[in-house]
Amino acid sequence: MKYNIVTDPIINHLKSIVGDTYVLFDKEAFEKYGRDETEDLVFYPEVVVKPRTPEEISLILKLCNKENIPVTPRGAGTGLSGGALPVNKGVLLSMERFNAILEIDERNLQATIEPGVITQVFQEAVEEKGLFYPPDPSSKGSCFIGGNLAENSGGPKAVKYGVTKDYVLNLEVVLPTGDIIWTGANVLKNSTGYNLTQLLVGSEGTLQKNNPSKVVAILEFLGNRKHVILIRLIF
Ligand SMILES: Cc1cc2nc3c(=O)[nH]c(=O)nc-3n(C[C@H](O)[C@H](O)[C@H](O)COP(=O)(O)OP(=O)(O)OC[C@H]3O[C@@H](n4cnc5c(N)ncnc54)[C@H](O)[C@@H]3O)c2cc1C
Repeated sequence: MKYNIVTDPIINHLKSIVGDTYVLFDKEAFEKYGRDETEDLVFYPEVVVKPRTPEEISLILKLCNKENIPVTPRGAGTGLSGGALPVNKGVLLSMERFNAILEIDERNLQATIEPGVITQVFQEAVEEKGLFYPPDPSSKGSCFIGGNLAENSGGPKAVKYGVTKDYVLNLEVVLPTGDIIWTGANVLKNSTGYNLTQLLVGSEGTLQKNNPSKVVAILEFLGNRKHVILIRLIF
């Protein structure tokens, strides 16, 4: 598919949405955001944009959809399958400013969390309350929850507790058209309609030219757990 290039008027439009500080197109930014942890691949974007609200993402996606410019969301860039690489150039949408844990609801064992929160930071926040969020990719000290969702990440605890998809109830998503939707409900039993949450989890950035951006996730965690024992069985 052929895309249009990012022109000066489009850069100015992006600046009017997120502010000058959060629109980058210098060499240093391209070096940083043109790579992830996938081998030695390098794909420079034409511009890096760092929004802070779902509404800003909505305006960016509306603009890019209209102008036929590709958009690639990016978490922490620790991915090993190249999903965060802007292979078609265009806009690199960095989610790093979405780094708030909005709520930890201890009664319902649920948390509302933005996608730029580092996985380990979230784990430690619930552990402080005697609770447990199991998905534990080895990159947990740097990767983001949003990246975990897109990659359906897991680690050693997956054997007993499952992976990221097993702990997601509901996602706030900005569609490529700019529409903002919720994909599910904050309950375990929800059989109404299609399971959009699980369609998006693990999609690894493959769905559309302007990937839907997850902006808030409702995660669930487990109750009190005092000890962790991991064993390796050889058979
Ligand atoms: C040393 C090391 C160890 C690792 N160990 C593991 C492991 O044990 N288990 C495992 O599963 N993986 C592992 N990984 C891979 C990687 O860390 C995970 O896939 C992680 O979940 C990626 O998160 P990220 O924030 O870095 O995402 P990124 O690499 O930035 O992005 C990954 C994908 O998510 C999309 N994305 C990110 N945020 C959003 C968002 N808010 N909305 C929409 N799309 C979004 C991107 O477009 C891209 O397609 C490891 C990587 C390294 C370097």
